[in-house]
Formats: sequence, C-alpha cells, structure tokens
Amino acid sequence: MKAQVAQEVVKLKEETGLTPGLAVILVGEDPASKVYVNNKKKACEEVGFNSFEYKMPETTTQEELLALVKELNNKKEVNGILCQLPLPKGLDDNAVIEAISPEKDVDAFHKQNVVRIMIGDYDFLPCTPAGIMEMLDAYEIPVEGKDCVVIGRSNIVGKPMGMLLLHKNGTVTICHSRTKNLAEVTSRADILVAAVGIPKFVTADMVKEGAVVIDVGMDRDENGKLCGDVDFENVKDKCSFITPVPGGVGPMTISTLMKNTLKACKLQNGIE
Ligand code: NAP
Repeated sequence: MKAQVAQEVVKLKEETGLTPGLAVILVGEDPASKVYVNNKKKACEEVGFNSFEYKMPETTTQEELLALVKELNNKKEVNGILCQLPLPKGLDDNAVIEAISPEKDVDAFHKQNVVRIMIGDYDFLPCTPAGIMEMLDAYEIPVEGKDCVVIGRSNIVGKPMGMLLLHKNGTVTICHSRTKNLAEVTSRADILVAAVGIPKFVTADMVKEGAVVIDVGMDRDENGKLCGDVDFENVKDKCSFITPVPGGVGPMTISTLMKNTLKACKLQNGIE
C-alpha cells in the first residue's frame, strides 16, 4: 500500500507540483503516543509526504490546542490533521476532533464523517478498521455471509469495524464488557476481531477451528513486551489466518492513514 501511495505521490508532484502534507499533534509525554507519532512521521517520509509535527507540553490549554487546530485548518500545505489520542487529563478529545475540518479529518473521527460512514457514502474510513478490510481483501478472505464477531465497541475501532464488515455483507455481532457468555459468542465467529486492550485476552477455547483472527490490541505482557489481545502462541494453530502483534494491524493502520492523506490532498485540490 505504501509503495502504491509513493508512486502516486511522484505522479502528483510531476503533474501538479503538489506534495501531500500531514500534520500530527502530540500533547504531553505519553511514551506509546510518542512511538505512534514517530511511526507516522517515518511513513510520511517513506511515501514522500511533507510531515508537520507539533509537540505541545502537558500543560497546554484547551484554547491553545484549538487555536493550533484552527491554524492548521487554514494552512494550505496541510491536507490531513491528526491529533494523537487520548489527550492528557483536562483536555477534551471530542472538542478537538470536532474542531478539525472534516475535509482534513484523515482519521475519520469527526461526526460528519462518522455519519457518512454509517450510510456508506464517505471519503475517508477510520484507519484501523479500513486497514483490516484491506488486509482481508488482499488475502481474498470473503466476508459475505460470514459470522463476524468484534470484541470491543469503541468509536475508533469496534463500532466502525462492525459497520465495515456489515457493508461487506457479514453477519455482525459486537461484544463488550457486559456481553454474556462471551466465549460461546466468539466460538461461532468465522472472522473474529479483538479490540479489547487486555493482553492475551482471547484464548484458544474462544476460537472456532479454522477461524480468521484479527488482533487489534497493542498491549504489554507481564514482562513489559508488546503483545496483542490474542494469546497468539496457543491460538495460531487453531485458526486459518491470524495477524501478529507487532506487525499486523498496526502497520496497516499507518498505511491507511497515508492513503487517506493522499486522497484528502486530491479532494482539496479538485483532482479526480
Ligand atoms: P477501548 O476504547 O478501551 O475499548 C475497549 C473495548 O473492549 C470496550 O468496548 C470494552 O467494553 C471492551 N472490553 C473491555 N473488557 C472486556 C471484557 N472483559 N470482555 C469483553 N469486552 C471487553 O479501546 P480501543 O481504543 O478500542 O483499543 C483497543 C485495543 O486496540 C487497545 O489495545 C489499543 O491500544 C489497540 N489499538 C490498536 C490500534 C492499531 O493501530 N493497531 C489502533 C487503535 C487501538 P465496554 O465498552 O463495555 O467498556
């Protein structure tokens, strides 16, 4: 995907002189957020984008943050704006999401974009679920008519994931912390997506033989090592496909972000 975006960027530069630009805002010192922001910056360099990084201290006020977003909304060289979430205590994630211009909302979190996804008429899809759909497509894994179970109902992963699987005619169940008999529900899944945030939460007894298992989790195990929501070692022999952590959903999320930013640049400049 990144190679494809990079090729298109070369063509875009040749034909129009435009270079897509992504602005990433990082408030505070959260180590995981810093890693994500660096990965995004690196990906921008790889595909030939301009990247604009705004590091703000933990003490940043809501007004200062919103003023920066406003400035970036008006900056022509910036086609996509992303604010690394969650924000430090005292700052309002939702207010920032809603302040980003929907045309530059390459995460597709703005209300206006969420509604468009719901009705299936959108410019951008949220990066993590969209990256997962790309992956299913690339491995020619059919979704239509399949039992798809998503564990997690967050606005950024679980809910849109369910919606995208539904758009592809999957029969979708979304589970959460109040779901009863979770293992029974997940054991029915042909496609199981785990977006829980608990290390190795999905164990082999929760997975149907031959299922496709997608692990969204970015967790730390008892030794502080990065791991997913799925007990990979014990589940891998039971399923037909499984995504590793690190290396599965994470890189797809970033590639989708690049794809969305390129699209934003084209749309803002009336190309295609
Ligand atoms: P979140 O907002 O904390 O949502 C977690 C969901 O899991 C909630 O819906 C919660 O249910 C559910 N849950 C918690 N305990 C449960 C249990 N015992 N049984 C069933 N469901 C349970 O997390 P998120 O933002 O969606 O992220 C989920 C994971 O994905 C995290 O590890 C995060 O780091 C990772 N992530 C990775 C990427 C990537 O690019 N790879 C992107 C985003 C997130 P309730 O709603 O009932 O509380």
